[in-house]
Amino acid sequence: MSLDTLENNLRLRLKGDVRRREPMARHTTYRIGGPAELFITCDTMTDLIEAASLCDAEGVERITVGKGSNLLVSDAGYPGAIITLGNEFKAHRVQGAEIEAGAACILAFLVRDAYSRGLGGMEFAVGIPGTVGGAIAMNAGTGDDWIGAVVSSVTVYVPGVGLQRLRPHELAWEYRSSGLPPGAIVVETTVQLQEADRESIRKTMDASLERRKRTQPIGAPSAGSVFRNPPGDSAGRLIESAGLKGTRLGGARISEVHANFIVNEGGATAADVLGLVRKAQLTVRDTHGIQLTPEIQLLGAFE
Ligand SMILES: Cc1cc2nc3c(=O)[nH]c(=O)nc-3n(C[C@H](O)[C@H](O)[C@H](O)COP(=O)(O)OP(=O)(O)OC[C@H]3O[C@@H](n4cnc5c(N)ncnc54)[C@H](O)[C@@H]3O)c2cc1C
Repeated sequence: MSLDTLENNLRLRLKGDVRRREPMARHTTYRIGGPAELFITCDTMTDLIEAASLCDAEGVERITVGKGSNLLVSDAGYPGAIITLGNEFKAHRVQGAEIEAGAACILAFLVRDAYSRGLGGMEFAVGIPGTVGGAIAMNAGTGDDWIGAVVSSVTVYVPGVGLQRLRPHELAWEYRSSGLPPGAIVVETTVQLQEADRESIRKTMDASLERRKRTQPIGAPSAGSVFRNPPGDSAGRLIESAGLKGTRLGGARISEVHANFIVNEGGATAADVLGLVRKAQLTVRDTHGIQLTPEIQLLGAFE
């Protein structure tokens, strides 16, 4: 079956939107990325099951993404299907101190809602863009706290297996990784919070936002920290002390504000960003003997 036939079948069977050769620059915070051959919005669980099984039956590579705030998509685009979750996956429900949120729920919404109900535990996530699904996949957080620590269950859809409700101990939470089963698509998550004083939640969040404003290039398109911090050190410190702050390639620059951010100053390509990623890796390895590992997820073909 050709991609055209797959596209037609998806259009016939899905409630959600199906697009062909959709520029990924529209779906990433970097505002970079060539076209995805297919860009599928699954509005319901039935859509998701149909989309995954149609792609798999045709051997078309697929990946699920959230808001693209941790992605660097190749200038050549993505040769398969990008699946994103829509309407039904945006819902959230509160029961006591537990909040159940669909994977497409915006993380910032969850943070705000917890605060407004006087529920503490999500303060660490203030200022982190993206969806609940992306946060689970990345175990998003700060140096000290991450989402895995407040999760009481994660529901995943594993194509060919079905829906699974996983308890936190069934996942391998680590710094910026949750050890999801291979191919698992997060569809829902429950976080267990505690009643807390709203004023103290607000103070913690304000302090955290203030720190971000002071130390990060807020406003410039980026995907947040480019590299994971190596144990006991900070990638930003290593890059800065290797003399790379402000280094520019095409439209991309190693931020003057925080050396672990590479920002798109206008018209940057994925190749520009990757060129700076490689330069930082080589220079830090030569200067400090440390191999930096990217935290951003690369999608599509890179040379
Ligand atoms: C300005 C800025 C600041 C940031 N600060 C932080 C920070 O402090 N801490 C931090 O941890 N991160 C930070 N990030 C990075 C990013 O926001 C997080 O990693 C975020 O959790 C990604 O969510 P997303 O929905 O955008 O996921 P995407 O970027 O769309 O995807 C990220 C990964 O998750 C996978 N994924 C997404 N949804 C699903 C799903 N439903 N099921 C299975 N896999 C899925 C994707 O395949 C991909 O591998 C920052 C980014 C920016 C731009």
